[in-house]
Amino acid sequence: MSKKVKFAPGKRTEFFATTRKRVDAYFEEKNLSSHANGAMWAKIAFFLTGFVGLYALILSNQFSLLIQLGLAVLLGMFGAFIGFNVSHDAMHGSLSASSRINRLVSTSFYMLGANPYVWRITHNLIHHTYTNIHGHDEDLEVAPGLVRLDPDEKVNRMHRYQHWYAFLLYGLASLSWVLRKDYKKFFQEKIGQHDNTNHPRKEYFNLFFYKILYYVCFLVVPFLVLDLRWWQLLVGFGLMHLAQGLVLGLVFQLAHIVEDLDFPAPDAQGTIQEAWAIHQMQTTANFARKSGLVNFLCGGLNMQIEHHLFPKVCHIHYPAISNIVKETALEFGVPYIEQPTFGSALQSHYRMLRKLGAEAYAAQQAEPRRDVPGSVAVELVRSEG
Ligand SMILES: [Zn+2]
Repeated sequence: MSKKVKFAPGKRTEFFATTRKRVDAYFEEKNLSSHANGAMWAKIAFFLTGFVGLYALILSNQFSLLIQLGLAVLLGMFGAFIGFNVSHDAMHGSLSASSRINRLVSTSFYMLGANPYVWRITHNLIHHTYTNIHGHDEDLEVAPGLVRLDPDEKVNRMHRYQHWYAFLLYGLASLSWVLRKDYKKFFQEKIGQHDNTNHPRKEYFNLFFYKILYYVCFLVVPFLVLDLRWWQLLVGFGLMHLAQGLVLGLVFQLAHIVEDLDFPAPDAQGTIQEAWAIHQMQTTANFARKSGLVNFLCGGLNMQIEHHLFPKVCHIHYPAISNIVKETALEFGVPYIEQPTFGSALQSHYRMLRKLGAEAYAAQQAEPRRDVPGSVAVELVRSEG
């Protein structure tokens, strides 16, 4: 495991200080709170009602099998949208100044079968600090050995085809989250450099209680209520998670695994030679910043630059502050990496999968053998001749 990582202080720190001052001034001038406004609470109500409504429609047992499956796919997509728009903000504490309200809304994460306590450690603490750093940011480890998203990971023969199958694995990630990932992370002794052995006792209860409640609501109750065979129910459950996982996975990957982004490695002393905010700008990208629909559905996860700099600001304000961040970045010569549309970001991610897979494998095969470095081999031939 790699050593403790720190960021070199004093280098280009004026960029973040200036951006923060300007963003604070924006809220002051407009007399706005940086937390949720009326539009944001309406959006939260829309997604929660949609999710519960779809669940109730499925349990009403009124529809044909095909329509039930369609509703299950929609339910999965709404699950992902709740993750982006409701739980994510609440778990960062950006919805409200009241930590009780944030905690209460965070419980929406249980509706997706996920655990907010584990997320706060892996996402808020680790991913937001050590973005795209090998051995620290576990977001780079989607399917170890199968999908290579990290240039510092060893490339293998399977990776040659990852630009074809990675999307299916993103889809399966949600099932794995519900059935495996939270337990694994909870009981893992270290996550990145975080000592993960000291959980509050109530979190042991929450982990098992809410997982079981989720299995009851999404497997046992439908089995008792619906006129379905067990395997039909499992197909529906699987499809729901495939949809949830694909939407979650795609939106997550388009923020950190697209072209022009960096994967900085700490030096021998464990230091990243940039200030933390500059590191965030080098490892994070936006997409479709001007699209009202994408902003509505992705809950600010399409504006991860602003989110990584200001995770405590509610995402409803990101379109407005993104202009300030971009202008300041250009002024300080700091990268502001964005794709104009979801489609262009997706294409860029696809090219990155190919680059980190098939192209990296081909380059490795073309390299001279490592046990006899090229220059040494030439010397040997010369002396023997
Ligand atoms: Zn976040």
